[in-house]
Amino acid sequence: MTKPTVVVSGGSRGIGRAIVELLAAQGIDVRFLYRSNDEAAAEVVAAVRASGGEATAHRCDVADVGAIESFLDTVADLPLLGLVNNAAVIRDGHFLLMPQESWDVVLQTALGGSFHLTRGCLRSMLKSGHGRIVNIGSLSGLLGMAGQVNYATAKGGLHAFTKALAREVGRWGITVNTVVPGWIRTDITDALPESKRRKAEATIPLGRMGEPIEVARVVAFLFSDQASYITGATIRVDGGVGG
Ligand code: NDP
Repeated sequence: MTKPTVVVSGGSRGIGRAIVELLAAQGIDVRFLYRSNDEAAAEVVAAVRASGGEATAHRCDVADVGAIESFLDTVADLPLLGLVNNAAVIRDGHFLLMPQESWDVVLQTALGGSFHLTRGCLRSMLKSGHGRIVNIGSLSGLLGMAGQVNYATAKGGLHAFTKALAREVGRWGITVNTVVPGWIRTDITDALPESKRRKAEATIPLGRMGEPIEVARVVAFLFSDQASYITGATIRVDGGVGG
């Protein structure tokens, strides 16, 4: 029997990697995208295959429309179960000093990439009358964070994208939801100075940063039959820090 296929952007590290591994462990054929770290991507594929799962890595910059189109050609004939828009980058800085490049790359990755990938993957879901789209948001996009006007705008746009698209495609059996991680231990947060990490942890009601798998479990839930009546939702996985 053909396995259902799910596309995950930014699947080679951090939260995306945990999502790839968990979905693959649940019998899904995962096609994941990464930007440049071939070694990390190969490691994920090897780990998934060693556990008896199926995952394929595609080097594809989601900020590049042509690259997305080439990737979409590789899945054009597959019945897609869904898509996880997870790839994002941060380029923090004071708004007035923010180079145009920092604005462009952050919006083109999180928002532009999600737009192009979703349009490409939706066709297959519309044909089958069933599909799941999960967008990875951010508290920055819900609350706004100083020094992150570019990132907050991209993520805020993605939250609105979820809600509008959910209304548009619901009648075709496709759900669209946002999962919002709080402080999660990945390369991004590992790079913080110890003092800043402690300060962040002190603000979290559960008293610790989350693990990527704790976000991945919620994404996997949204792909399960238990989540059949959830769409347009924003689900925070943040240890309570978002209020
Ligand atoms: P990481 O930086 O650990 O991993 C990012 C992943 O995205 C990598 O696989 C990277 O590939 C890939 N990627 C980055 N840019 C592109 C691109 N242009 N095209 C394709 N792939 C790309 O991120 P996290 O796991 O920390 O974050 C994952 C998601 O969770 C993001 O959307 C982030 O905004 C969100 N989030 C994370 C939080 C946290 O605390 N970690 C908090 C709130 C939200 P490569 O290595 O090859 O560049």
